[in-house]
Amino acid sequence: MNVADSDEMFAHLAARGAVLTDKLEEADTVLVNTCTVRDHAEHRAVSFLGRLAAWKKEKPGRIIIFAGCAAQRLGQALQKKYPFLDILSGAKEIEHFSETLDKSGLFGPHQTAGELPAPGLTGYVTIMRGCNFACSYCIVPSVRGPIKCLPVQDILQDAARKAAAGAKEIMLLGQTVNAYQDGAVSFADLLNRVSEVPGVARVRFTSPHPIYFTPQFLAAVKDNPKIARHVHLPVQSGSTKVLQEMKRGYTREIFLDKIRALKSCGFNISTDIIVGFPTETEEDFRQTLSLVDEVKFFIAYCYKYSPRQGTPAAKMKLLGQKVLEERLDILLNRVRGLSDAAYQMQVGSEQEVLMETPHKGRSSGNFWVKTKKSYPVGSLVRTQIERADGTLLFARD
Ligand code: SAH
Ligand code: SF4
Repeated sequence: MNVADSDEMFAHLAARGAVLTDKLEEADTVLVNTCTVRDHAEHRAVSFLGRLAAWKKEKPGRIIIFAGCAAQRLGQALQKKYPFLDILSGAKEIEHFSETLDKSGLFGPHQTAGELPAPGLTGYVTIMRGCNFACSYCIVPSVRGPIKCLPVQDILQDAARKAAAGAKEIMLLGQTVNAYQDGAVSFADLLNRVSEVPGVARVRFTSPHPIYFTPQFLAAVKDNPKIARHVHLPVQSGSTKVLQEMKRGYTREIFLDKIRALKSCGFNISTDIIVGFPTETEEDFRQTLSLVDEVKFFIAYCYKYSPRQGTPAAKMKLLGQKVLEERLDILLNRVRGLSDAAYQMQVGSEQEVLMETPHKGRSSGNFWVKTKKSYPVGSLVRTQIERADGTLLFARD
């Protein structure tokens, strides 16, 4: 999501003549797009700002733009602490970034479109901003605001532009992406419409919320092979009690029902898990471990609970760091073999591979596949899987 937001902000800079460089020394302007979902992410962003102080001192005309969720959360306090900061643009301001640049007086007038970087094989398309949930540990609703769905026509245009520039795969983005609705157009309708955009071979999306995976959704997408058979579906905890305290809006059983339904339509499932939520007991944690064993996720990203100021959970008594570390360790050990096992399960299956290099690509279920023959980048190759080694499948082609 931040990559897509950075591209969008860069487009406004490009329209004022900016050209992209990844060398700090060459740059006149640095745009730092930030995350604040966990304390660690925010800390990294702010320490980078500390490093930029020296960069700016070398040539005082250099410009620093600090944008995104950490900018939104820290606001003016940051400007006070780092007076050399030229532009502060919070996550809620992204739609007004062009005006922010104009107001700063630091950039020339909006010219003809500047040169944008090519989208690559995957084109990221934001379909909604914000979140209407209120998970008790999460800072996103306060820094991103409530849901705003983009109009279907804008999304189709954006996808068409990216496909015309070479993207074969479109990744639809939103915090609860499958809650998308624009008038009569549902998320499933949107997926089907994007898959019909000329040049689009595959459509992915992230991150969905379990409650919106309804039988109607599955019925609407199950016959469309262009909709990738991989879903990143964060569960956060395997304990119904903790899920309720997190205000996730589902129980362990409801989540498992959704998983069964998704798997029956061929979806491969990865997840996010938080360990050490303030009320998590040993028994709750065991429930998370047993859920991991039961679902056999493709990948599970595991995080230590990080208190975020202003969220309801931040007022609860924290568990000790030692408990958090022990639980994270146990969970990481439990999830370590999952990907290898999921790859092994694919041996003998038939896969459609979107080539990312002449010899390697990704299947619809998001497995890496190595081919014997060489194929054009961006082509779709149907092949059987001969064997698996770690997190790589080998094609019979
Ligand atoms: N909208 C998505 C998640 C977005 S945040 C959803 O609801 O599923 C991305 C991930 O960061 C979450 O899935 C969660 O696992 C993690 N996360 C969010 N807040 C956190 C916190 N306070 N501490 C630790 N991890 C957190
Ligand atoms: Fe945060 Fe919950 Fe919204 Fe996801 S659904 S962004 S975890 S509040």
